[in-house]
Amino acid sequence: EAILETLKNAVKSYPDFPIPGVIFRDLFSVLADPQLFPLLKKCLIEEVKAINPPVECVVSLDARGFLLGPIIALELGIPFIPIRKKGKLPGKVRSYDYTIEYGQSTVEIQENSVKPGQKVLVVDDLLATGGTLDAACKLIKQEGGDVVSCLVVMELNDLKGREKISANVISLLQF
Ligand code: 5GP
Repeated sequence: EAILETLKNAVKSYPDFPIPGVIFRDLFSVLADPQLFPLLKKCLIEEVKAINPPVECVVSLDARGFLLGPIIALELGIPFIPIRKKGKLPGKVRSYDYTIEYGQSTVEIQENSVKPGQKVLVVDDLLATGGTLDAACKLIKQEGGDVVSCLVVMELNDLKGREKISANVISLLQF
């Protein structure tokens, strides 16, 4: 619809960033526009309210997921839980190692942050190969959480990332 088209047009694209051959889709150009940021929020909240069963907790990924997840959690009055790169979260954590394009990465969640059986929504800015969201889902499942949906603002269709993810995936804008 028209709002989504407006948002899509407002996402700035940077060829050859951060490495040659990659087109970086930058959500900050939407957040920088005080007319568009509330529209983005409205679209995200509408998507989340339509999820069945209703989600009870929002988990997002460091760093750009942190711009979106808390907005949704606040609006719904449910917990916001972070997933971060290894070594950033205090206290007891659960870790998950996964393979990225060149090498390995590890993400962590605080133990007992997601409750067993809790219906979880995972939020990030962009779905590319799906490695990051898949790692987040695995971590949440190991904590006993039930990933009901993953929500991203942008999806890079050609990379078929959603095929890697066992949960339902919702994207607002497709590239
Ligand atoms: P994936 O694991 O699906 O290959 O990559 C997704 C992760 O990389 C997300 O956390 C996302 O923030 C980041 N990412 C990869 N490409 C882009 C891009 O073009 N734009 C933005 N904003 N993030 C990207």
